[in-house]
Amino acid sequence: MYIGCHISVGKGIYAAAERAVELGARSFQVFSKNPRSLKPKKIDYEDAEKAVRFMKERDLKLILHTPYITNLSSPKEDLTEITISSLKEDLHIAEVFGSPGAVVHVGKHVGEGEEFGFRRMVETLNAILGDYNGPVKLLLENTAGQGSEMGLTLKELMRIREATDVADKIGFCFDTCHGFAAGIWNGETYGELVEEMEKTGYLEHLMAIHFNDSKAPFHSRKDRHEKIGKGEIGSEALSRFIHDPHFQSLPIILETPVEDEWEYRDEMEYIRTW
Ligand SMILES: [Zn+2]
Ligand SMILES: [Zn+2]
Repeated sequence: MYIGCHISVGKGIYAAAERAVELGARSFQVFSKNPRSLKPKKIDYEDAEKAVRFMKERDLKLILHTPYITNLSSPKEDLTEITISSLKEDLHIAEVFGSPGAVVHVGKHVGEGEEFGFRRMVETLNAILGDYNGPVKLLLENTAGQGSEMGLTLKELMRIREATDVADKIGFCFDTCHGFAAGIWNGETYGELVEEMEKTGYLEHLMAIHFNDSKAPFHSRKDRHEKIGKGEIGSEALSRFIHDPHFQSLPIILETPVEDEWEYRDEMEYIRTW
């Protein structure tokens, strides 16, 4: 089981990988760049090479997360252009860092309506991935459905993937908190969720799990992460993921609120007692 957590990449990717091991993580996630900006980033290739070697030696898995402010469905042409080039760069960074996927949030229609949002998202994905031939998959993350966020259900996520011309370059990342807040699973319906993952074909493209409890209630459509076992989902429901043979080879990444990354160490230890 590859339980891990989100780690700051401020001191470079090698330092982040070392930190992950110090915390007892078997996987980790970093941002490709400042999460609130789409400014290009200078890549330290030497540092990355060292990190990739280290991760291989330790059997440590990495997942890259692209900036939060990315909107695949933006109605603004100039912003869409910036988004496309930023995500192309993120795919390259993922490749250099040795991450098999780059997580991106599904688009927000920002009042333009779901049909527009869907169409624009498909166009944007085609533009990002059309001429990309590398090994990295762009991973669509399910949303809580806050504001005008789209992509709450597995069916919708599959529909987006299949509407593009680049479906083979698109995978998924499932966030447990977002799914709970969107109302697509809880402790009682876990079995149905996994069944639907299988039935829709979602499961075979699932490459990472964001493992978070939720401060907000079931179906509240609010994206508020909570520490594992301290929220509305609870340990018992969340433990189903950990015991499920379907997810044994996937990075399971904590994005729970912490003041210090060291808190993840205890949280991971707690999960391992299940
Ligand atoms: Zn997430
Ligand atoms: Zn979230």
